[in-house]
Amino acid sequence: MLSEKLQKLLNDQINYEYYSAYTYLAMSAYADSNEFPGIANFFMIQAQEEMEHAKRIYTYMLSKGGDIELEAIEKPKKEYKDVFEIFDEGLSHEQEVTRRIYHIADVALEEKEHATMSFIKWFIDEQVEEEESFSLLVKKAKRALDNPAALYLLDDELASRTLHPAAK
Ligand code: MG
Repeated sequence: MLSEKLQKLLNDQINYEYYSAYTYLAMSAYADSNEFPGIANFFMIQAQEEMEHAKRIYTYMLSKGGDIELEAIEKPKKEYKDVFEIFDEGLSHEQEVTRRIYHIADVALEEKEHATMSFIKWFIDEQVEEEESFSLLVKKAKRALDNPAALYLLDDELASRTLHPAAK
């Protein structure tokens, strides 16, 4: 059985993954309304992945006999200055997710809760990929700030991203 503390942290993380999905959905809408269909596609898939992350924690909680408690999802930001800002805020957002995942890992380690330590490792690895992917996009978006051709290429590149449910 999971401690109350770990159950609270895992419930909070379910909520934060949905908040992440909402944040990326808002970014997708921003990109779409500014005629960047590829960037909109990237963030739409990112949003879908975040919902998969939430479901992964939900399923784990239930398998451990945990008490699922869903809270209200915070309203995401709607207005952005430009597409650079959405990638930059995406990177900051992922850094915050990593901080939260590490905290869950710290508590699991303190409590010698080996199953949760094993479970959370997938998220630790996932965060390495998320931060790397956003860091690269921030660099590309920065280069494209005053270069419409580069921005077009970036949008085109991101149009091809697809969801890989098996890997998530
Ligand atoms: Mg996530």
